[in-house]
Amino acid sequence: MFSKILIANRGEIACRVIRTAKRMGIATVAVYSEADRHALHVEMADEAVAIGPAAAGESYLKIETIVEACRQTGAEAVHPGYGFLSENPHFARALDAAGIVFIGPPVGAIEAMGDKITSKKVAKEAGVNVVPGHMELIETTDEAVAISNEIGLPVMLKASAGGGGKGMRVAHTEREVREGFEAARREAKSSFGDERIFIEKFIVEPRHIEIQVMADGHGNVISLGERECSIQRRNQKVVEEAPSPFLDAQTRKAMGEQACRLAAAVGYRSAGTVEFIVDQHRNFYFLEMNTRLQVEHPVTELVTGLDLVEMMLRVAAGEKLPISQEEVVMKGWAVECRLYAEDPFRSFLPSTGRLSRYHPPAHASGDGTKVRNDTGVVEGSEITLFYDPMIAKLCTYAEGEGMAARSAAIATMSDALDAFTVHGIRHNIPFLAALMAHPRWEEGRLSTAFIAEEFPDGFHGAEPSEEDRRIYVAIAATCHLIERQRLDRLSGRLKPHSGRIQNDWCVRLDNEFVDVAVTAGRPGVPCEIDLVVEGAKMRVSTAWQPADLTFRGVVDGRDVFAQVSHDGAALRIERRGVSHETHLMRPAVAEAARHMPEKKAGELLDRLICPMPGIVISLPVKEGQKVEAGETLATVEAMKMENVLRAERDVVIKKVCSAPGDIVAFDQVLMEFE
Ligand code: ADP
Ligand code: ADP
Ligand code: MG
Repeated sequence: MFSKILIANRGEIACRVIRTAKRMGIATVAVYSEADRHALHVEMADEAVAIGPAAAGESYLKIETIVEACRQTGAEAVHPGYGFLSENPHFARALDAAGIVFIGPPVGAIEAMGDKITSKKVAKEAGVNVVPGHMELIETTDEAVAISNEIGLPVMLKASAGGGGKGMRVAHTEREVREGFEAARREAKSSFGDERIFIEKFIVEPRHIEIQVMADGHGNVISLGERECSIQRRNQKVVEEAPSPFLDAQTRKAMGEQACRLAAAVGYRSAGTVEFIVDQHRNFYFLEMNTRLQVEHPVTELVTGLDLVEMMLRVAAGEKLPISQEEVVMKGWAVECRLYAEDPFRSFLPSTGRLSRYHPPAHASGDGTKVRNDTGVVEGSEITLFYDPMIAKLCTYAEGEGMAARSAAIATMSDALDAFTVHGIRHNIPFLAALMAHPRWEEGRLSTAFIAEEFPDGFHGAEPSEEDRRIYVAIAATCHLIERQRLDRLSGRLKPHSGRIQNDWCVRLDNEFVDVAVTAGRPGVPCEIDLVVEGAKMRVSTAWQPADLTFRGVVDGRDVFAQVSHDGAALRIERRGVSHETHLMRPAVAEAARHMPEKKAGELLDRLICPMPGIVISLPVKEGQKVEAGETLATVEAMKMENVLRAERDVVIKKVCSAPGDIVAFDQVLMEFE
C-alpha cells in the first residue's frame, strides 16, 4: 500500500478521500489555490501545497504544477476526485511519466469512454444496449434532418465531447432539428473546442439509472448495484438514491452484467459508473461511462457497507478486489440530497458569502437509520464564485426492505434537512425539503422531467399539509411563549408560579393570522404545553431556549425539528420548505393588525442590478440602444454557470456601468435605463 498520496481536488471530495486515507494509515497531501488557503481539506491533510490563483485554470487544472507538488512532497499516488483533472488522459499520462500512480483507470479506458461517439461504438460492440441513433459524425443540416427522420422524432442532438449537462438539445420537429443542429455545433465548438455532433433518439419520460462498477488489475470486474438519479434540474443531478424504486431483479441483473461487460471490454480498473437512460417500460440504454468516483457514491456505500475510496486505493496499489460478485449485498435504502449555494426562490441563482452559521444535523439516530453529511466547509468558511456551488451532500439511510425502507430514509432526510442550520448564504434546503415531501417523489414515480413538470414556474415555497401547518403553528406559538415568559421574568412582570397565564393568542405568519389557545402547562425549561390550533388539540414538549437556532421537540409524540432565527420581535421559522416571519400577539392586537395595509411589491427598476456576485462575460448593448423585453442585457458567470440577464421590459440604455471581465458584487448596478 502507498505510504503517502496527494489529492488533486478540493471541497467535500478532497475531505472524503483524506478521511479514508487517514483510517488506512496513509499520509495525505492537499493542494490548494489562493482562495482555498483556509479550506477544510487543507486543514485535514498532513501537508498542503499552494498551487496558484483562485481560477481553476491556473491552479487545480495545472497538470505540471500538481506533478511538481507530488515530487516535492514524495507522494506516490494521486487521487483526482471528480471534475477537474479526474477524466483527463493527459494528466494520467503525465503522472505515469513521472512514476506516480494515478488512482483511477488506465489511460486507454479514459480515452475510450471520454468521447461520446467512441464510447457508444465500444459499448455496442461489447453487447451493451445503446440509444438508437446515428453514431457517425454529421456534416450538414440536411444530413441531420434525414437522419432524424430515419431515427424518428423526437431526437436529441449531442456534442460528442460534451459533459456536465452541456451541449445537448432536444428536437421535436424538423424545424427544431435544423435550428438545433446549427446551434448545437456552435455551442459545442465554443464550449468544448470540438464541433462534432451526433443524433440519437430522445427517450420520453426517461429515468436516469446508473451502475457502479469496480475492477482490479487482475481481470475481476464487479457491479455494486444501481443508483437512481432522475431528480435533475437542467440535466444536473439534485437527489439520488440506492437502490432504484423502479428496477426489478431481472432488469437490475441485466444492467449490472452489461456494465461489467463494458468495463471488461476497455480493460477497466478502479471505480467507474455506467450511466443508463431507462424508459417507462424498463428498456434501458447506455448513455455514457464516467471513469472516476461519482459525486453520489455515498448512497452505494450506505447500502453495500463498502468504502469505495478504500477499494480504489487497494486496486491502484495492485491488490485484488476484496470481494466477489456473489458477496455484494445491497441492504436497506439510502437517499442523497445535494446542498447547493443557490437561491431557490430567485430562479436558483448562485449565492456566495461567508457561512456565519453552519451546523449539520446530528449523525447518530439509533433506530436503524443513519445520517451522513459529506462536506468541505465549516462554520466561517467562505463560499466563493470560483468553484462548484455544492456545499454538502446530505445522505440518510434506513434499514429494512423495499418501499418501507425508502419511506423511512425519506422521513429521516426530511428531519435532517429541518435540523440543518446554514446562515450567511442562500441555499436550496427549502427546495430539497419540498422535494422530499412531494407525493410523486414519495411514490417513486420519477422521470428526469420531474422538477420541470412539478415546478413549472420555479419554486415559491412548499405547500404544507394540514398536519404540518398545525405543527408549524404550534412550534411558533411555543417558541414565542418561551421568549415572552423569559422577558416577563427578567422584567419582573411575572413571578415564578404566579397563577395568571394568558390563554388566548394569535400567531401571525407573514400576513396570515391563526388563533391558538393554551389549555394547560406553561412555558418553562423544559416546556410542556397543551394547545388548540385550528380546532385540533396538540401537545408540545421541548427544551428550546431563546438563543437556540434549531428547535428540537416532540409534538404529539413525534420528533420535530425547525430552524428558528430572530428578527426583532419576529421569529423566522423554517421547516419542511415552509418559511415565515412569525409574531405572537393578543387577539385584540391581531384584530388591529389585520386592518393594516399590506406592503406593495417592488416596482420596475430603472437600472439592471446584478442578482449574484460573478464575473461579467459579455454586455452586448450600447448606450442609447433600444432593447426589447426578453433580450439579453448581460451574461454573468458564477460558479461555472453562465447566467443570462434579460430585459424585463422594453428599455433604452442610458449608461453602461461595467465591462466584460469585471468582478461584480451582489446588487451592483450594471447599467441604467432611460
Ligand atoms: P456525477 O456525474 O458524478 O453525479 P455531475 O454530473 O453532477 O456528477 O458532475 C460531474 C462533474 O462535472 C463534477 O465534478 C462537476 O463539478 C462537473 N460539472 C458539473 N456541472 C458542470 C458544468 N456546467 N460545466 C462543467 N463542469 C461541470
Ligand atoms: P453528460 O455528459 O452531460 O452527463 P449524458 O449523456 O450523461 O451527458 O446526459 C445527461 C442527462 O441528459 C441524462 O441524465 C438525461 O437526463 C438526459 N439525456 C441524455 N440523453 C438522453 C436521451 N437520449 N433521451 C432523453 N434524455 C437524455
Ligand atoms: Mg452523464
